[in-house]
Amino acid sequence: MNPEEIWNAALNQLEIQLDRGNFDTWLRGAVFLNIETGEDAAPLFVVGVRNSFAVDMLQNRLYRTVRRILSDVYGCTVELRFEVYKSAPHAEVPVMDQDMPPMFRFLSQQDTSAPAVPLHQQVMPPERPGIPESELNPRLTFDRFVVGGANNLTYSAAMAVADNPASVYNPLLIYGGVGLGKTHLLHAIAHRCRAKNLRVIYIPSEAFINDLVNAIRQRTTAMFRDKYRSVDVLLVDDIQFIAGKESTQEEFFHTFNALYTFNKQIILACDRHPRELDQLEDRLRSRFEGGLVMDVQLPELETRIAIVESWAQERGVRIPRSVSEMIAQRSRSNIRELEGLFTQIVAKSRLSAQPMNMSAAEAVLERFEQPRNHARQRRAITLPQVLQSTAQHHELGLKDLIGKRRTGRINHARQIAMYLARELTEASLPQIGEALGGRSHTTVLHGYNKVAELMEADDMFRYELLALREKLLKGDE
Ligand code: ADP
Ligand code: MG
Repeated sequence: MNPEEIWNAALNQLEIQLDRGNFDTWLRGAVFLNIETGEDAAPLFVVGVRNSFAVDMLQNRLYRTVRRILSDVYGCTVELRFEVYKSAPHAEVPVMDQDMPPMFRFLSQQDTSAPAVPLHQQVMPPERPGIPESELNPRLTFDRFVVGGANNLTYSAAMAVADNPASVYNPLLIYGGVGLGKTHLLHAIAHRCRAKNLRVIYIPSEAFINDLVNAIRQRTTAMFRDKYRSVDVLLVDDIQFIAGKESTQEEFFHTFNALYTFNKQIILACDRHPRELDQLEDRLRSRFEGGLVMDVQLPELETRIAIVESWAQERGVRIPRSVSEMIAQRSRSNIRELEGLFTQIVAKSRLSAQPMNMSAAEAVLERFEQPRNHARQRRAITLPQVLQSTAQHHELGLKDLIGKRRTGRINHARQIAMYLARELTEASLPQIGEALGGRSHTTVLHGYNKVAELMEADDMFRYELLALREKLLKGDE
């Protein structure tokens, strides 16, 4: 493996180990630029990121994590330097993940390095151009989806829909936890339908929301409608993100009806059953449930082994059965994690030019588990700690936070406490409400959603909140 491949393998690993917000915000699209090696100094990786904000964040807060993982993949301790990446956009395409949401693809292609631009404009560009339609990942096809007992039916349903759109199951909704193959199946359906010259749009719901927001702002809603209502097959991934977003739900409802009425196929993926989606309008819920609802589950051991072996074949590596078995056995939460483990073990054996054997794999697995245990320990945060830190951070007293007063500042801090409590502690919504002075669980949920929305819309706010969160996790406040 060359240094670029090593960086990409480490990035893969980071995606698994960091939480999604951190990864997407700071690291997604980070590219290998250069490696500097000296006589007796540790090799220095120079990595390009999208703006000076990300450089700052990575250098100050995430340095140790990134270095540890990169060192693991590389095989000895390395140093890192982050720089704003200002090369031509084309140069970065090959190293970018096809799965990257269009917004990040767009952001990471922006040249935000010009020093004259003030920071607030760098992170909040006044006008964001429309998001290009999502592309399909050529790797995610039916052929590459390994079928086993657990997902047999869902796979068959996906095939049936791809072969006979709008005539068997409409809509088809696939739900299940992260990394279990939902996106893979959606892409596979989309590929097959495109091969038949059908007009297909695959879009993650975040991009749909963004597209809508832009259309409203630029007064091009008619075009927006035409675009989504003139397809034969519409696939919307991660539909859970439209929960709580009223105007998106309104628009989606009409899109749905228009397509359905004209006998067009709709396929949705969701991280849970639609009945468990809080804040989804009933009329949408009943439509989502009105077709075929299928789940994806973690495949059983034999299928997981087969998946690992299919990856090995695809990449032309030889992997003894004992090793693929060990990887499959060790990874019990999802296929994405399985992929991360596999990538690391392959990287390791290539780097050391050693064949893959049990003991080499064992060593990688050991290291893989450590950070996870560590992450679990870090999560043992209590409600009082959250309240304390949030109050302190906002220069308020604990009494203010749990009291009755509802001035803008206090209310804002309170909602942040709700958000952090739900993210970082094991407490239930009613427990959080109780700790915050006897508030109802719906109030807590509302506060949580408010903050989550703000995080999406306002980069400055997200930066500040992530900093507070990091502080809490480190326990230095
Ligand atoms: P989700 O959308 O459910 O979070 P993905 O579809 O992104 O999950 O799957 C995560 C990774 O696991 C992808 O690389 C995908 O190709 C792979 N994967 C999941 N299930 C299977 C399977 N049955 N066979 C082969 N690869 C799979
Ligand atoms: Mg997905």
